Amino acid sequence: MTAVTRDPGASLDVVLPAFNEAANLPALFAQLQRMLSALTPRWRLLLIDDGSRDDTPAVALAAIRSGLPLRYVRLSRNFGKEAALTAGLALADADCVLLMDADGQHAPDLVAEMRAAWLRGADMVCAVRANRDEEGALKRLGTRMFYGLVNAFTTLHIPPDAGDFRLMDRCVVAALNALPERNRFMKGLYAWVGFRTEFLPYTPQARAGGRSHFSLGRLLRLAFTGVTAFSNLPLRIWSALGGVIAVCALGYGSWIVIEHFVYGSPIPGWPTVVVGLMFFSGVQLLSIGIIGEYVGRIFDEVKQRPVYLVAQDTGDPT
Ligand code: UDP
Ligand code: MG
Repeated sequence: MTAVTRDPGASLDVVLPAFNEAANLPALFAQLQRMLSALTPRWRLLLIDDGSRDDTPAVALAAIRSGLPLRYVRLSRNFGKEAALTAGLALADADCVLLMDADGQHAPDLVAEMRAAWLRGADMVCAVRANRDEEGALKRLGTRMFYGLVNAFTTLHIPPDAGDFRLMDRCVVAALNALPERNRFMKGLYAWVGFRTEFLPYTPQARAGGRSHFSLGRLLRLAFTGVTAFSNLPLRIWSALGGVIAVCALGYGSWIVIEHFVYGSPIPGWPTVVVGLMFFSGVQLLSIGIIGEYVGRIFDEVKQRPVYLVAQDTGDPT
């Protein structure tokens, strides 16, 4: 790695996506204030309220009144974590930008170490879960299927357990912001942009309050988004399968002809026809569904709708 010297006093923006996290914010703010002030005097929090229906706005505005360097941005509804992160990255303009969950699971203690790695020259410092002990069996299964699916079908390598807890140099943030797609599968985008990435293991805390917003179903949906956004393999599989089936059909057809004319056996009856018909209509529907999935993605992109809408923005802290 080439030596890079970065300014130890460089500015730092912390992007916090929050959906109904009012109960967890005060403790997080206090911890961050303590941690970040020790790192640099030029830090700021960007709280992206992803359409919370609890007291998140009140808690955030109270924190601003009490003098916390916080910019509060409320999206007009719940757009999802990927959109909230996108909004935060679009607003961040510091030398390095930290993404972390607002639920207290990403321990601020690690930030000093991440920042040190950045100062040494890493462009992206990614915290990797050392374990998932705090999660239930179903969530763990969902996560395993999620990474399994995405890594099996795409050419990206998305390290399992490397989530959105990351510190990024401004060049990485600029690269991410320049990506035009609306289907924002962040874990794929981080891997796609590349740059010098370092991984730091950490032990996630238990969620301070509330519960996870990512159910098994939501994780699988996200995995599907990831696969279709980063790979054409699912489309190719059907072409290959179609080819194999056509060859088999040709072989079987020839066999029937030979059987009939050489051995004089009668042409076999309807069970084969019915089974064949049902099997292949199933295959066809499935493949049309996969194509539909991609057409849907194209539809989303050509509509050119914004990824999120901002309803309220307190602007830069003074
Ligand atoms: N989040 C969000 N919008 C959503 C769902 C979640 O901004 O639609 C935020 C949430 O407030 C938290 C972070 O994303 O700060 C991670 O969410 P969660 O803890 O539910 O996910 P998990 O830790 O279970 O992966
Ligand atoms: Mg969480």
